Amino acid sequence: MNKNVLIIGGGIIGLSSAYYLQKQGHNVTIVDQSDLTSGASHVNAGIITPSHIIPLAAPGVINKGLKWMFSSTSPLSIKPTLNSHFLRWAWLFKKASTKQKVEKSIPIIKNINVFSQELYEDIKTSDDFNFYYQKKGLMMLYQSDKMGEEEWNIGQKAIQEGLHVEHLKASEAQQLQPNAKLNIKGAVYYHSDSHTTPSDFMKEFTSYLLKNGVNIITNEKVISVNVSGKKASSVQTKQQKIQFDELVMASGSWTPMLVKQLGLRIPVVPGKGYRINVKKKTGITIPAILTEAKVAVTPMDGFTRFAGKMELAGINTKINMKRVRAIAQSSEKYYPDLKINEEFINDADYGLRPCSPDGLPYIGKLSSFNNVTLATGHAMMGWSLGPATGKLVSELISNQNTSINIASFKPERYL
Ligand SMILES: Cc1cc2nc3c(=O)[nH]c(=O)nc-3n(C[C@H](O)[C@H](O)[C@H](O)COP(=O)(O)OP(=O)(O)OC[C@H]3O[C@@H](n4cnc5c(N)ncnc54)[C@H](O)[C@@H]3O)c2cc1C
Repeated sequence: MNKNVLIIGGGIIGLSSAYYLQKQGHNVTIVDQSDLTSGASHVNAGIITPSHIIPLAAPGVINKGLKWMFSSTSPLSIKPTLNSHFLRWAWLFKKASTKQKVEKSIPIIKNINVFSQELYEDIKTSDDFNFYYQKKGLMMLYQSDKMGEEEWNIGQKAIQEGLHVEHLKASEAQQLQPNAKLNIKGAVYYHSDSHTTPSDFMKEFTSYLLKNGVNIITNEKVISVNVSGKKASSVQTKQQKIQFDELVMASGSWTPMLVKQLGLRIPVVPGKGYRINVKKKTGITIPAILTEAKVAVTPMDGFTRFAGKMELAGINTKINMKRVRAIAQSSEKYYPDLKINEEFINDADYGLRPCSPDGLPYIGKLSSFNNVTLATGHAMMGWSLGPATGKLVSELISNQNTSINIASFKPERYL
């Protein structure tokens, strides 16, 4: 049966949900407070990551976070706050950061990543719209033996999960990418990963959806959700009331404010990251993570993107130029011939990653409401997991069996 579906949020998760829902014959509307040209889904590193099998909440991260807390240039920074929402999130994060929980998450994260990558490839071959898609893998570049050892330990786990991973000497990594001089000790090379140019993809995706009858309302913020018994009946923006049969919340870092109106506490905090686009030749042809600096480097269509930092400081729009400069400086240490000019640094932009405490997304119908589906909390993997999440959302709303088991993504796992 065709339904009228309203999606709050036009990031990669909202657009992907609209794509599969529209294909199933539903009438879809997206509402977004922005003009759909900025935010996490536009500034991200564009890497599709079967390689990222370890969630952010891993043993040792809390200690590193505490050590880095007051540094203005460290990869992870936390603004101390007594806000109860953040304190609860931090406590749940700590509880999730155990070896056993991480081991349990590894195959779950890998499977949904591989599923999503297949869907990206299906979209690419479908000719629905054209986009830049390259499968050249991802190199974890390291400068210290200690980091090399840590990365290779993870690489070996990934091999056990069926991924193709190699441990390369510095000279071997250099040979694969002869035009960008590397200052490294070695690299762990995941052949599994692919990459895209997010802003171009988002633009093409939006045009495709508009051409295929999806209604997209921009610059309208949903300020309240109206409820009648066990159903959400409408949402209110400043301009209008929108009614629907089914509601999808793909509202990223802003989700806690919306679900609060349904009487729920879903822990999501924004993890701010920055990107610098270097619009000149860099010689970089294979995406990389600079592991000590935690910077992602992606050769996109016409430029190279350097992206990184995880700033836990609530929702705010400030660009911290010290952190942006730190991304540029650390990148120049791995690529000694690279010079990132001021014009590129001054043009930096940011996005807020919606982070759940355990690093797993929330995908599923709320049990306390008959017609509300949550699709958020994808943290550092939202770009990769967009199509998989969209497909799962469309299956849930169409009352079909889901393509993969979604028990671990239950939205109410912390209630
Ligand atoms: C620097 C950086 C690098 C990254 N690199 C990668 C990568 O290489 N690979 C990867 O897989 N992931 C990466 N990510 C993570 C990824 O970008 C995010 O997980 C993903 O974009 C989240 O998508 P989303 O649709 O959930 O949220 P968003 O893109 O934030 O979209 C949510 C939308 O909801 C709208 N909204 C919220 N509340 C309301 C409201 N009340 N009314 C109306 N609209 C509302 C917002 O305006 C927003 O447009 C990176 C992120 C950053 C910041």
